[in-house]
Amino acid sequence: MVFCTGCSCLCPDIRIENGRVYNACRKGSSIFNEKKRAKPTVNGKETDIETAIERAAEILSSGNVAIYGLDTIPIEAQKLAIGLAEELEAYIDDNSSFCLGDFVEMILRGEIPSTTLDDVKNNAYVIFYWGTDPYNSLSRHLSLYTYYPRGGKRQRGYEEDRFLVVADIRKSHTAKLAKKNARFIRVDDDLKLVESFIQAMEGKAPQYPDVARVLSEMKKGYSVIFGGLGLKYGLNGRYEEFTEMFRRLNEITEVYFIPSGFHSNMRGFNELLFEKTGYINRYSFKEGVSKAEFEFSRLLIEEKIDSALIIGSDPVNSLPFEVSRKLGEINTVVVDPLNSLTSMIADVVIPSALTPIGQGGTMMRSDGVRVKVEPLREEEWTDVKVLTSLKEMV
Ligand code: SF4
Repeated sequence: MVFCTGCSCLCPDIRIENGRVYNACRKGSSIFNEKKRAKPTVNGKETDIETAIERAAEILSSGNVAIYGLDTIPIEAQKLAIGLAEELEAYIDDNSSFCLGDFVEMILRGEIPSTTLDDVKNNAYVIFYWGTDPYNSLSRHLSLYTYYPRGGKRQRGYEEDRFLVVADIRKSHTAKLAKKNARFIRVDDDLKLVESFIQAMEGKAPQYPDVARVLSEMKKGYSVIFGGLGLKYGLNGRYEEFTEMFRRLNEITEVYFIPSGFHSNMRGFNELLFEKTGYINRYSFKEGVSKAEFEFSRLLIEEKIDSALIIGSDPVNSLPFEVSRKLGEINTVVVDPLNSLTSMIADVVIPSALTPIGQGGTMMRSDGVRVKVEPLREEEWTDVKVLTSLKEMV
């Protein structure tokens, strides 16, 4: 069995036989496809990997540098990238600054209680998806860890032993599962939904009437709220009421939070940087602080950097055009196992091994549990080896 590194579920039960991938969802199956492997290049010309690393080291040795991406590489490589950023007095940032980093930070700071997916499987009665559609974005979340599996105290099947709540602006595929023993709440204002829980706990009529029923189900035992991007952008930085809601809920019952839906090792990077600096992203080693203006896209727009090392990410594909266009104007080094839109505009491309095919390492699930990923085979140029070589040369 191998781990799938297609998303932060890190499914542990993938089987590969005669080139066929078993148990993975469609997204997971695609990561085992090696057809688009990158080649080492400098200024668009193919070269050997040592020459590409040498040129990358030259680029990164002068001017203002940002290191960006990092969310799909193992913790061992993330540690080296953080060390490299420190040595270069560079900026460092990852997808979490516009993804679910705020929630990870609240958990790390102890502002909201969290739990593990294994505990959810064995104990959770209310499974509450808020602003996320795992049916599409985390295809095996419901079947492997949360709603469908039997485990521990939950042996009677989902129709009796789980209560599903889905809060979303539209009737998503996940919301369509909310039939028997379930509630779908169509949300037009996430803060109003937070206030509704507080109103219901105070014995007042909640603005969203369904909250009264959900709260009475939550009082029956262990509940977990999975929050996604819809919740993050719905709250729009107004987290005080949100943390207050958790504090009040946990005075009367047991309610946890797990962020839902991000890259395979985003949380690993957030936790490593937090341990080292007290911040989870958007950090400047020169200034020793994290600021909103150190977000990678702002560094590009405001022309604060001369070069960037992109590792384990494809920002040209994910960032708005006016931001990614700026990436083409600076010196860009890409470390990636696969060809991508970003590698097409990079000055230097360094191909690395693909996790879990040619390299293993430690990865962290969305609930903060570390897993040890074994590779299918060992390739020479792992992310660790590439970053170690770069570190020696800068
Ligand atoms: S749910 Fe995520 S980790 Fe699991 S098989 Fe799909 S992509 Fe891979």
